[in-house]
Order: sequence, then C-alpha cells, then structure tokens
Amino acid sequence: MPIGKWFSPEPGIFVKRHQLKKEYIVSVDFGGTKILAALMSMEGEILAKAKVATRLDDGKRGLIEGLTQAIKDVIEQGNMKAQDIKAVSLGVPGSVNPFTGKIGTAPNLKVTNFNMKQELAKYIDIPILVENDVNLAALGIKNFELKGKGKNILVVFVGTGVGGALIFDNKLYRGSDFFAGEIGHMIVEKNGPKCGCGNKGCLEAIASRTAIVRDIKKEMKNKKSSKLYEILPKNKPIKSKGLALAVKKNDPIVIRELTKASGVLGTALANVTNLLNLDMIVLGGGVMESLSKFMVPKIKESFSKTVLSDAGRGVKIVATKLGDDAALYGGIVLASEINGEAKDNTPQV
Ligand SMILES: [Zn+2]
Repeated sequence: MPIGKWFSPEPGIFVKRHQLKKEYIVSVDFGGTKILAALMSMEGEILAKAKVATRLDDGKRGLIEGLTQAIKDVIEQGNMKAQDIKAVSLGVPGSVNPFTGKIGTAPNLKVTNFNMKQELAKYIDIPILVENDVNLAALGIKNFELKGKGKNILVVFVGTGVGGALIFDNKLYRGSDFFAGEIGHMIVEKNGPKCGCGNKGCLEAIASRTAIVRDIKKEMKNKKSSKLYEILPKNKPIKSKGLALAVKKNDPIVIRELTKASGVLGTALANVTNLLNLDMIVLGGGVMESLSKFMVPKIKESFSKTVLSDAGRGVKIVATKLGDDAALYGGIVLASEINGEAKDNTPQV
C-alpha cells in the first residue's frame, strides 16, 4: 500500500495510557488524493496526524484499507489503543446519510451507494460517524473559530470544486436527502462551460481552481510570451500557491481570471443571501487559503452590487483561518453529540 509522508507529532505529546483523563477521537478527512487522520482531544488539541495516499485503483477495498491504515497509524502514534478512542469521525466528499453511514455519490472517491460505516466497522472496533466533509468543516468553523458569532451561516469551499454547507439557527441543515449546500452547482451562466455534474455554467465550472486554471491556460496559449511561463513551471499542474505568486508579480492574465471568478462568486453569494437572509459567509478551501487577500475584497465588491440592502446589511464575509483542519475540528463537534448528548438532528452511532 502506498504510504504518504508522515506528520511527526510535536515532541513530548505522547501520552501514557494510565494518564488518559480526557476523551479522544480520531477525525478523518477523506479526500480524493489523500486520507488525513488526526488524533484529537475533545477540546481541540491535535496530538498526532497521519497521511495516507487515497487508492482509487482498487475500488471499495482500496478505500477501506487506506482508511483503516490511517486510523490505526494515528492511534499508534499517540501511544493509545482503540478502546481509548471515543469515536472515529469521517468526512467524505460526497452526499452522505449520516444516520446510516451510507454514501450516495462521491465522484472524487469513485463510489456510489456505498455503506462506508458498515464496511469500516469490520476492521475498526470504535464507534464510527460519517458526514459530508464541507458539513464537517462548517461545524468545525462554527464551534472552534466563530465561537458563537453567526447564527445563519453559509460556508463555501473553493478548491478543485466548489462545495458549500448551511447552518440555520445554529444547526447544520442537511436537506431532505442530505444534499443541501451544493452552491457549486448553482447555474450562473446560461450555456457556460460544462460542469462535472453534466450541466452547463455551474459556479464550479467558472470559479473553482480547476476552472480558473483552465481559463488561464487557454489565455497562455494565445499569448506565447506570457510572464506566466517564467513564474509557473510549464509542465507542472498550476496550484493555488502558484496563482498567488503570479498575483504578487502582477501577472495580468492571472489577475484578470481571478477577478472574473471573484465577481461570479460574489454574485452567487448575494443570490443565496437574498434567499436566506444569512448573517455570516465563511470562505475556505485551497484557493481561499492562498488568495483570500486578493479575492475577498473583490468578492465583497461584487456581493454588494447584487445583494438587496435589507438582506445584505448584516452579512459578514470572512475567510476561515482553520485551513485544511476545519473538517477535522468538525469531527469533534459530531462526536461530542453522541452518547446521550444528541440533539434531534444529530446522527447516533
Ligand atoms: Zn454542476
């Protein structure tokens, strides 16, 4: 099994088993390229992290094997045993029924109708919770970053795709079939570029990193002397950090495309605000992590032009500081509500 680079825990954080007083969970962010597992206390300390490459070549078996390995490794790194762990919280990029643990569709993992909880339970003797990854990130941001600020929140992650999650009245809104929050598939340009979902002109097909890079490459082809060839390696994939570097160097193509994407994002956020009268919009994902300084003011500008003043007056638009860890923190929130503390919309193990 291909194993990725390991994260070494901070020195001195190894805990002797008899010293365990706190409750611990393993929080997992299951992505299409890597499985990131963290051993965390319920208070939010990260004790250890492990990363395993996601195997997509061997179907469900490959996914479960990688997952089992990441979970076991991180527990071992923390010098703990399965019985010391309260729960495994699993964030999955797709539609998930958190009550049954069944994934409806997860294109990045190449699975449909797969009961991940049931399958993983064959190998891991710890209560397992499964949730959509952006929903988890929203829970993490709400509880560990905003700490009480914001009651009606939209969280939007801009990276390979564009994902979203909604919190109404301080509670995660999952929708009738666990599909709520898919702002990435809001159509913002009639007959626009084709989206992975089959429709044309989705927000994701215009403002995701994939879409931005596609448009930049198209322009680079036309202008052979573009500065981008000096800044960005020609045959390497263009990542968000590369785009940030190009902005710093004032590259006109990158600036133009990012400005366009920011404008479309701002309009989409205004449409959602007009519908839902939110009080907070939190932006995250790889693109925001590298480019929020450049993009957020432009998003706000376009938002203000479109939003109805009564709906938009109280809305704060901010970028999350939790980065990749937002979903990991969300795992704690999900796990904190098991064992009798469950609220009516919280899945039980
Ligand atoms: Zn779409």
